[in-house]
Amino acid sequence: MQSDAIVMHDEEKGQGNAAGVGRHSGPESGAQLLSEPLVDIDLLTGLPPSTPLELDISGDTDLPVPIAASGDHCDCCALTTNKLWQGARAGLEEAHAVCTLCYLTGHLDSPTAAHGRLAYLPGLDTTDALHLQRRALLAILGGDEAQQAHGQRVWTWMDNHSREVEAAWGTARAGEFAQAMKRLPPYKRSQLQARLSGCVLMLPADMFDDLNLLLPSGNTVQAALSSQHWDAYIRSDLYV
Ligand SMILES: [Zn+2]
Repeated sequence: MQSDAIVMHDEEKGQGNAAGVGRHSGPESGAQLLSEPLVDIDLLTGLPPSTPLELDISGDTDLPVPIAASGDHCDCCALTTNKLWQGARAGLEEAHAVCTLCYLTGHLDSPTAAHGRLAYLPGLDTTDALHLQRRALLAILGGDEAQQAHGQRVWTWMDNHSREVEAAWGTARAGEFAQAMKRLPPYKRSQLQARLSGCVLMLPADMFDDLNLLLPSGNTVQAALSSQHWDAYIRSDLYV
């Protein structure tokens, strides 16, 4: 499908988010209530997330190239890591340091992000969804047999929610949304981004040949997977 179909299709549908669910239908909406972050601090680090994250593009004419940034944690999701990138993007030009998954979320026009798909996961805070995806990817890439299977199950469950995006927009391919965003003036891009609220960039595990792009600093895969937070995730009935 041509990427401009994203916008045309959406305009025909009028107001609404990716899955056409009435998330903004009223203050009594349960989905709207669930869309609020459940905690004020990041579950993994205890640090307050300071910089808002949304699906965005670089704002560059050319393909964006990741620029290393200094720091010890991601300004968006608070992951403790030394693998940080300059997070400035079209919708947020101020310099800030972000982890790999937050960088890709804000740079859908990057070659790596183009391999991803958008999954509609309303009620799950974006940064929490990225933490969950990161753990699933670590399990797939570096876990033992059981952890790999479990990680794959979690990742697949998340990724399957790209079907709602495909149904509403005609595509879930991140690269096509990036092309649409690149063509739009800022105020229309903001409208598109608002309609994509609840969508998370899902990336295949084979995009990550260096586990350090995902690991919290100072952690091994086993240490990361055995943290109490992963246990909390996998005990949840969220994805069963
Ligand atoms: Zn991050």
